[in-house]
Amino acid sequence: MKRIFYFITVVSAVSLFMAPLSFSQDSAPERLVRVCIIDGKEDIYLKLNGPYKIYPVNSDRVLISGKRLRGEIRATKEGLSIRKRDIKQPAIKITALTDAGIYLDGRRFRGEVDIVRKGDLKLMAINRIPIEDYLYGVLYHEVSHRWPMEVLKAQAIAARTFALYQARENRNQEYDLRSDIYSQVYGGRTSEKWATTRAVNLTKDKVLAYKGELLPAYYHATCAGYTEDAANLWKVDLPPLKGGACDYCRHSPHYRWTKEIQLWKLADILNENGYKIGKIESVGIISKNRSGRVEKLEVKDASGVSLILTGKDFRQMLGPNEIRSTKFDVLVKWGQLVVDGLGWGHGVGMCQWGAYGMAKKGKSAEEILKYYYPGAEITTIDKIKPK
Ligand SMILES: [Zn+2]
Repeated sequence: MKRIFYFITVVSAVSLFMAPLSFSQDSAPERLVRVCIIDGKEDIYLKLNGPYKIYPVNSDRVLISGKRLRGEIRATKEGLSIRKRDIKQPAIKITALTDAGIYLDGRRFRGEVDIVRKGDLKLMAINRIPIEDYLYGVLYHEVSHRWPMEVLKAQAIAARTFALYQARENRNQEYDLRSDIYSQVYGGRTSEKWATTRAVNLTKDKVLAYKGELLPAYYHATCAGYTEDAANLWKVDLPPLKGGACDYCRHSPHYRWTKEIQLWKLADILNENGYKIGKIESVGIISKNRSGRVEKLEVKDASGVSLILTGKDFRQMLGPNEIRSTKFDVLVKWGQLVVDGLGWGHGVGMCQWGAYGMAKKGKSAEEILKYYYPGAEITTIDKIKPK
């Protein structure tokens, strides 16, 4: 009964993570991640429904405190203003003293929020949040809360590992993670769901490791039959991320896709990106790698100019949600480039729809993770070597 009550009270919360982590072994510091939740806005609407305190970042001197607050935060030449009141500080920390949360532009966040004025008088908001709280928000956006519990647990472990890995890598940066598809999608407190919250709680502190180090546990929506070697995309060359067959994602709604682009539009995009090309005459694939993804393709114009592009650059230029993967074939027809593709995402690590397929066949979270990260071990965060 107590458990049920607990889950109900935590339903609803959110955001991405970053973390100034200390992995000291003899103490158990709170593992925080720093998530960039807003970047480049001129003003942010702040709403605090309960008691709060506002400090300069890196100081305990209280600048403002009160029982509730609503109003705009803006960047000024001297620092920041809140409800037109000037604060001569370039960066502040907002702490809610109860569970009332911090609302920024209508989205609710747990933990603490830093608001930083950038050189161009734009604002950045960074949410400092315990990793487990961050995962409550992220998980709901990554997988359907209606999926079987074993796939939700596998996703919780992969997301926790990836976030903590990023936090270590970015320790000297302004933040650890961004709340967009390039890191993990952190929706904030408004998007928690019972099942995904439970998956986070059931896997508390569990992470994937390889030779005692945190694994960069990449994952993606659908691999369409074969996962990608991380070394083809990034400077990551690890046995658990070398790619392999996936027999479980055939029923993914993202298995096949088609995108048509007018050739004149493709020429415009290439020229906007610094290439020089005239009227496009042909587009052809030069090579694919072992996982069936495009390594290189060639675009030729009517005057004989030829451009060689990598599949990765081509996808990035046209937009990763338009060209959903680099696993595609091309055809030029009636002044258009027709891209026939398979799968969605970079293809590295766990295939989420494949993981769903495995769970539907009765596989456990552990079996799913061992399938997609062969050679990796599931351990707890306190067993990871300090770095
Ligand atoms: Zn797959």
